[in-house]
Amino acid sequence: MSRGENNTTGAGLDYGAPFGNALGPIQHIDVPMRRYGEEEVDYIVVGVGSAGGVLLQRLARAGFRVVGLEAGPFWDTERDWVSDEAGSHNLYWEDLRITGGKNPLALGANNSGKGVGGGSVHWAAFTPRLHPSDFRIYAEDGVGFDWPMSYEELKPYYEQLELEMPVAGPAYFPWGDPHGYAYGPHPMGGVGNALIKGCTALGIGVSIGGPVAILSGSHGDRQHCIYRGFCIQACKVGAKASTLITHVPDALANGAEIRDNCMVSRVHMGRENRVTGVSYFDKEGRQRFQKARAVIVSGYAIETPRLLLNSACPGYENGLANSSGTVGRYLMAQAGNVILGRFDQPVRMYKAPPAHCLTEEFYETDPKRDFARGFAIQTVGPLPIALPSR
Ligand code: SF4
Repeated sequence: MSRGENNTTGAGLDYGAPFGNALGPIQHIDVPMRRYGEEEVDYIVVGVGSAGGVLLQRLARAGFRVVGLEAGPFWDTERDWVSDEAGSHNLYWEDLRITGGKNPLALGANNSGKGVGGGSVHWAAFTPRLHPSDFRIYAEDGVGFDWPMSYEELKPYYEQLELEMPVAGPAYFPWGDPHGYAYGPHPMGGVGNALIKGCTALGIGVSIGGPVAILSGSHGDRQHCIYRGFCIQACKVGAKASTLITHVPDALANGAEIRDNCMVSRVHMGRENRVTGVSYFDKEGRQRFQKARAVIVSGYAIETPRLLLNSACPGYENGLANSSGTVGRYLMAQAGNVILGRFDQPVRMYKAPPAHCLTEEFYETDPKRDFARGFAIQTVGPLPIALPSR
């Protein structure tokens, strides 16, 4: 039975209590998915990925009629996912997409996801928080820009999502704003042990066992991590958090509809500068129109600007939400430099979550260095086929 047809997972879980929020328990219950047909809905969410999956759940819980339109499939974790890194490429959005400028980015497996859950089905699940200083880098270090909000304003949301996913980690994480995690750290794999051994020998502080959004105990109907190491190829077990597992079932239980394999091509504007709905191609390739009172475009840094620009119309000749002219510009990727080493003893890097252990000792600006800001060092555990050949 496909999750796209019915919502089929487990028990009620109370995530809200520690924060006194009004959400109540997240439900994973058997109910047929609501179908809205062509009737006007309150919200369309374009892209049911990391952000869209949570938005869909929050809107459905608040009682809104909401439809999520997702370009990729509604994954059935048992049917669709394989314990084979070469077989996991259908998780990524690998259609031709073109970037330009002086330093065009290569797009593909690392920076996109296609299907319900989006990139959250193939992320490594590392969940360290930003530091308070990250929000003030111009004020403190004279580089970049300060954020328009502070860490303190964001902190309650970190805490809430760390329980909803939930995140496992050490009881005391010393860097940035020192904090702990409600779910205990994972036992260490060989890769993590190698980093701990190296850091300890050099007197460098290191976090043991996370933080990662991977279950270190059973949680409702979800299972404990079994350390099979396929997190980046999608966790068949459901131990790793993705919105497909954590928030989408609850969204459906609260009346949201998800239409998978539906590619939105245009957001339509009506009178008084209000949207009227979206055009999309359904799974049979037929063009359809869905009426809505509001549209949320939640397609990550690539598909969001593409759709907004493609929705240009009289009065919005440069695309929607683009009075600044910056939609689609200044795209910047996170750099992740990987260093591989040889060890005397086998480390079995393919076992246990690849993201498992880190140090942020070099994170803040150090006047002894010739650059502002810093970096973290964390483990990665490539499966054998992902290793570069010599
Ligand atoms: S290591 Fe754990 S979280 Fe990762 S794929 Fe295996 S069971 Fe899932």
